[in-house]
Amino acid sequence: MIDRANHHLFQPLLYQVATSVLAPGQIGSPIRGILGRQPNTTVILGEVNGVDKDNKFVWTNVTDRRCVPVPYDFLILATGVTHSYFGHNEFAELAPGLKSLADAVAVRNKVLQAFEQAEAEEDPARHRDLLTFVLVGAGPTGVEMSAAISNLVHNTLKSEFRRINPESARIILLDMAPRVLGSFSESISQAAKKQLEKLGVEVRLGHGVDQIDADGVMVAGERIFSKTVIWTAGVAPSPAGKWLNVGADRAGRVRVQPDLTVPGHPEIFVVGDTASLDQDGKPLPGVAQVAMQQGRYAGRLIGRRITRQPAPPPFRYFDKGNMAVVGKGFAVMQSGKLQLTGFPAWLAWAGVHLQFLAQSSLRVSVFVQWVWTYLTGQRGSRLIVNHHAAEPVKPAIEQMPAGLAILSK
Ligand SMILES: Cc1cc2nc3c(=O)[nH]c(=O)nc-3n(C[C@H](O)[C@H](O)[C@H](O)COP(=O)(O)OP(=O)(O)OC[C@H]3O[C@@H](n4cnc5c(N)ncnc54)[C@H](O)[C@@H]3O)c2cc1C
Repeated sequence: MIDRANHHLFQPLLYQVATSVLAPGQIGSPIRGILGRQPNTTVILGEVNGVDKDNKFVWTNVTDRRCVPVPYDFLILATGVTHSYFGHNEFAELAPGLKSLADAVAVRNKVLQAFEQAEAEEDPARHRDLLTFVLVGAGPTGVEMSAAISNLVHNTLKSEFRRINPESARIILLDMAPRVLGSFSESISQAAKKQLEKLGVEVRLGHGVDQIDADGVMVAGERIFSKTVIWTAGVAPSPAGKWLNVGADRAGRVRVQPDLTVPGHPEIFVVGDTASLDQDGKPLPGVAQVAMQQGRYAGRLIGRRITRQPAPPPFRYFDKGNMAVVGKGFAVMQSGKLQLTGFPAWLAWAGVHLQFLAQSSLRVSVFVQWVWTYLTGQRGSRLIVNHHAAEPVKPAIEQMPAGLAILSK
């Protein structure tokens, strides 16, 4: 197992780290710890940057060496996705996205810092920009984040500041699509939008963001002044397709065969977000269930080949449904014909998300934190964690009495 991070990350709860509900360690687990009891698995902390298909090894940068060849008999590539700014990479610095723990901590710093900056600002005219939060992208992450920021201001922060009123914060959710949660049914989208508006989130649909700069965003010719813009829109696949030099879909995801291998190489599998496979004429979505089921399938197929058993039938995704949470005690859920909104869906959401955390200790810790936050409004980790460079140490020579300085010279 080669990974550039030393931890497995449960991405569906990243927004809770970004909005201070959970601490980073509650949604990430050391890979070495998860696989510690599996004696035939070796874990390497390293970044893969190429594949030699003919000689069967992957090029890997490890901590102190570059391009180390790691040989394989079978290869499973599951390198996920990264943010896509739709050709505007210059937006990245101004509007951070949410894919890793480092991203979530950076967003948490940015959100909490905005309140601190506003409290320290004497000019009330500047409070408005500092307390305007813009989220670009109204998929599950944008919806969950905007509702969570609303809870943060209305429950946790409301009585802690003296010069500003955190409850006056403006939270704006933007999307070029005509509705929020586009992958859900129309009625679920409506219910989610209504709930967001009840929480005070301004939902603006049907227009893409034209510009993001230091002053905020431009949408449909209108300037929205904001010091905190968060990108929750597109994704781009990892470079796995380029490493393999095989066919990719329009987004750049590797086109795989029904057994999840790439054409001409039955020993190379590509699974999860970075793979592209159609089922019943539609591409499979980039969600955790697809990635997990594909991972299991590839593992089983390799096991069968090694033990010379017949191959299983082609991969088929079993869709258990979709969920998104819209603030405290309200979620939406769609599973086959079943559609649920409100508190029952929230209970189901909480149960499913606890179940999929990687370790029992995390399940207990997240459960306790949720109950505490639900009852008291207090959050698990509201720390602004920035690196402060040490004060430059004055050269010793300047501090010495003149005579000693001359001596030391
Ligand atoms: C904020 C957010 C919320 C989400 N919410 C939901 C949800 O509610 N429900 C749902 O079903 N799905 C959700 N998803 C999607 C879900 O998390 C993904 O579909 C799933 O994680 C994909 O799994 P994967 O294994 O393909 O990729 P990932 O989970 O992204 O794993 C990729 C791994 O590869 C490693 N890696 C990448 N490149 C390299 C390299 N070059 N060398 C070495 N290692 C590398 C990474 O460190 C990472 O560990 C969400 C995603 C995000 C970002």
